[in-house]
Amino acid sequence: MPVSGLPPYDPGNVFARILRSEIPAKRIYEDEHALAFHDIAPKAPVHVLVIPKGEYVSVADFSAQAGAEAVAGFWRAVGEVARQLGLEGPGYRVLTNMGPDGGQEVPHFHVHIFGGRALGPMLS
Ligand code: 5GP
Repeated sequence: MPVSGLPPYDPGNVFARILRSEIPAKRIYEDEHALAFHDIAPKAPVHVLVIPKGEYVSVADFSAQAGAEAVAGFWRAVGEVARQLGLEGPGYRVLTNMGPDGGQEVPHFHVHIFGGRALGPMLS
């Protein structure tokens, strides 16, 4: 069960289906801990999603339930994806939405990487 108070993990969620290659995605990176692919509705010139391979509903569950190796591997993958996209020099934003107030639509933990332009203030 999720620690976050959200519904239990749904293995039919769209990112789980992408992980199982049941639906297509523009994949740009994969290793044993993470998969990265372009967001289907980009909100910045670069908008990529990075997801762990384990079944975690939200950042709360991932933080509480994933092992140290999985957590480290996931965050290393986030940094590696940004590096491979050429974002390290100009900079970028990493964001995760959690639960209804956070605006989380897909109940498989993911982070967004935004870049490719000056992004301005956080919540504008
Ligand atoms: P959330 O609000 O859950 O943090 O963001 C979910 C993101 O997933 C949204 O930016 C949305 O555009 C993206 N998304 C939803 N369905 C799909 C899909 O089928 N493929 C891809 N690549 N992105 C998706």
